[in-house]
Amino acid sequence: MPPRCLPLVLALAAPALAAPPVGDGGAASDRDLPAPRVAHGRLRLRPPPRGLLALTFDDGPSAATTQTILDELSREGAPATFFVNAYRLGGHSQAAARQRELLAEEVARGHLVGNHTFDHQRLSDLPAAAQEKEIVDGERGIARVLGQRPWLFRPPYGRMAAPAARVLAARGYTVVQWNISSEDPYLRTPEKVLDQVMAEIRREGGGVVLFHDTHPWTAAALPLFFAALADENCHRVEAGEEPLLVVGLDRFVAPSYGGPRNTAQWSDSDREARRRIAEACRKARGPDQEPVVDEDVRRAHPR
Ligand SMILES: [Zn+2]
Repeated sequence: MPPRCLPLVLALAAPALAAPPVGDGGAASDRDLPAPRVAHGRLRLRPPPRGLLALTFDDGPSAATTQTILDELSREGAPATFFVNAYRLGGHSQAAARQRELLAEEVARGHLVGNHTFDHQRLSDLPAAAQEKEIVDGERGIARVLGQRPWLFRPPYGRMAAPAARVLAARGYTVVQWNISSEDPYLRTPEKVLDQVMAEIRREGGGVVLFHDTHPWTAAALPLFFAALADENCHRVEAGEEPLLVVGLDRFVAPSYGGPRNTAQWSDSDREARRRIAEACRKARGPDQEPVVDEDVRRAHPR
């Protein structure tokens, strides 16, 4: 890998669950709470949000790996969204206690938290009542720890049927799929995960990236990922293209009742971040070096 050009310039996400506490945390409903910006929304990834990436981590929190991922995100100042399985939060084991702490830390560090069901079952294989129970138990498990319910939902395996969709709509959830997959359940080395995710980022040009914070190889891939993204950005700048920014997922959520089809418009601060990346890349390259664009980059970014 070529030497890294510069740290990423990143925009921090809004506070994760901007709603007041729900008392005992057991019976949260959207009648009790003012819905935050990510509630009752929709997220479309076709066409992909150009030049913007939202990082998501599923299936945690994990006492073994989530802390490493949180620390790396903090080092980079990168916002992320964690889709949580609430079965990990209950009980008296040391791991469960640690995982409750990690969930709270995700929010304390400014990340978003979403519901990924209680037990990670394939919802479309379950009877309607069991689908609802998976969703509601997942919500309550998170609310019990945080004192706030989640408003984002990702179905396990990206699959769900009409009964689940009805429950989610009634409870004000925004359903979040992805268009860039790291394939980290299957590619069990940091290098393979990195190659896969960078290839998909080049193909898609932006969007929602799927990782899992439960794998040690994903935790090990994350510093490589940020370094590769910084290099990719310098290649882009050299090719006269805009660098990619990591932003909060909330930037991609539009109201379900209308609004623009693709909400991820570039803001003034995005333009400023891009300008700073481009400047740092030019400085890092120096006036006498060869251009960093190679044939792979030209193929990946046809004009
Ligand atoms: Zn999952």
